[in-house]
Amino acid sequence: MPEVLKAPLVVEFPFTRSLGPVQSAFLTGLRERVVLGVKTGDGRVLVPPVEYDPVTAEEIRDLGSFVEVAPTGTVTTWAWNHAPRRGQPLSTPFAWVLVRLDGADTALLHALDAPGPDAVHTGMRVRIRWADERTGAITDIACFEPYDGDRAEPAGHTGEFENPVTGIVAPARLDYTYTPGRAQSAYIHALGDRRIVGERCPSCRKVYVPPRGACPTCGLATSEQVEVGPRGTVTTFCIVNIKAKNLDIEVPYVYAHIALDGADLALHGRIGGIPYDRVRMGLRVEPVWTEGSRHPDHYRPTGEPDADYETYKELL
Ligand SMILES: [Zn+2]
Repeated sequence: MPEVLKAPLVVEFPFTRSLGPVQSAFLTGLRERVVLGVKTGDGRVLVPPVEYDPVTAEEIRDLGSFVEVAPTGTVTTWAWNHAPRRGQPLSTPFAWVLVRLDGADTALLHALDAPGPDAVHTGMRVRIRWADERTGAITDIACFEPYDGDRAEPAGHTGEFENPVTGIVAPARLDYTYTPGRAQSAYIHALGDRRIVGERCPSCRKVYVPPRGACPTCGLATSEQVEVGPRGTVTTFCIVNIKAKNLDIEVPYVYAHIALDGADLALHGRIGGIPYDRVRMGLRVEPVWTEGSRHPDHYRPTGEPDADYETYKELL
């Protein structure tokens, strides 16, 4: 059996969000090296601040509820982080800590720069190490660092700033190791030899391309390999008028379902070598491979007469 493939797959996108008045003041404060909390009706100071009292659900909205707290504090609990990864606050091993800043009643999660887990303990005193360049983000706090000096006294900032930060872009990133499984691994291996190979269901005899390893109708595993194509028939298509980012194809172009000869399932492909408004159902096409490509770059007309509708209507 050929090797089952696997490869890294990263899903990454910027998430743009507006902040609202409370988070706006908090993050703008960090830009100015000021840490703000909010005061609840019963006098507790919450850092980081929230819009609603987590105990009473009362809305906290008065600007007068902001309270500046100190950049020094006490570790309330921690966990050692052995293997820092991209996007984490420090490139060396560090501790995640909850820090109750002086003047606050709740704790803030951040990184602590410490030489090793033996140097970290609950109750230890720490202070903020500010980032050199600050933009109004939680990363304006580069990290916490051990501190044995005096408690710093906040200046009593009200939470009103020039040019407040009103939105942030939070990058979202998900790291996967993706494996396409046995059937699609075999399909991809065959593409390396410019062959298109599907699998036949042992019961209904349908040939699936690309193969998924099972027949969705009969619920049976498939294993019999069948080479299909390379020629095929356009069963349906659409004209694409919107240019995709990172895709160097002039619009308009045609994207089609193509039933390769011998296959019982249409696959997707771009149609080239013909004006977009001449593409039609029944058009006979063949794959065009480009140097170094692991799959057909596009499909082009073969010049054969169009396929009779009756020959592909089951595949629509
Ligand atoms: Zn079947």
